[in-house]
Amino acid sequence: MEHYEKNLSSPKYIKELLKNHNFFLSKSLGQNFLVNPYICPKMAEMSGAQNNFVLEIGTGIGVLTKELAKIAKKVCAVEIDSNLIPVLNETLADFNNIEIINQDILKVDLKKLFDEKAKNMKICVCANLPYYITSPIIMHLLELNLNIESITVMVQKEAAQRICAQPGSRECGAISLAVRYYSKPKFLFNVSRGSFFPPPNVDSCVIKLEINKTLPIQVNNTSKFFDMVRAGFSQRRKVLINPLSTKLNISKDNLKNIFNNLNIPNNVRAEQLSLEQFANIFNSIQNKYVDKI
Ligand code: SAM
Repeated sequence: MEHYEKNLSSPKYIKELLKNHNFFLSKSLGQNFLVNPYICPKMAEMSGAQNNFVLEIGTGIGVLTKELAKIAKKVCAVEIDSNLIPVLNETLADFNNIEIINQDILKVDLKKLFDEKAKNMKICVCANLPYYITSPIIMHLLELNLNIESITVMVQKEAAQRICAQPGSRECGAISLAVRYYSKPKFLFNVSRGSFFPPPNVDSCVIKLEINKTLPIQVNNTSKFFDMVRAGFSQRRKVLINPLSTKLNISKDNLKNIFNNLNIPNNVRAEQLSLEQFANIFNSIQNKYVDKI
């Protein structure tokens, strides 16, 4: 027997496995599989999967799924590509605490899934995300407001920088504030492009979002609040009053008054404000112009 036999970190074995199943990698589904043997055990451990329920997104051939199943009570792994199911049935055959769900993660009824499968267990999410839908998946998980403890994900390096950006920094965008509303983002470690088969054109990072038990600010309509934040960042080179005035149809003079009352300079740009300052602007506009926001 050769040393690469059944080793999911061996490109040689992966090629053979995929050939046997007549499987062809899909670039559009982001199918770059982890082959660096140190990454998955580290990710699984840092995700807090120990004795808990884990939702994995994008199983691939199951290299991370296996490491999660070794330490978690139960793993539900969602994979969109039905051609991978026979492969997973082979690679994960030794585990009895893994359930594979062949669906698009954005279409899974996660509330129902957690109610049925994660009774009395803490819920963690751990995934090497398909990069073409990183933000939609993260926002979907956060906005559902389910009982998730933490989300540990591998994402493209630039996405990690945006997601973890401090308010007030140049990288800060609407997603940084949205993520900070629901969670505390933490950078865990870098992963080079050479850790994948086939190697992608970008480097990656593993980040962890620890879900807030209490929200850091009070706004009475979260979705309208983030509409306003997104409008603010839509022209990030301009002073914030300009895009807000256009989007909300409120005169610049009225917005200047609101900013003055809140001690926010009139020439501030969106990236310079904290989540709390955005909330103060939103609440003041809402008090004065109920119909506009
Ligand atoms: N976890 C594996 C690993 O680390 O090697 C695979 C990660 S690969 C970057 C992303 C996986 O997500 C692929 O297997 C792809 O088919 C799957 N995927 C893509 N879009 C998806 C979606 N909307 N829902 C569920 N899985 C998806």
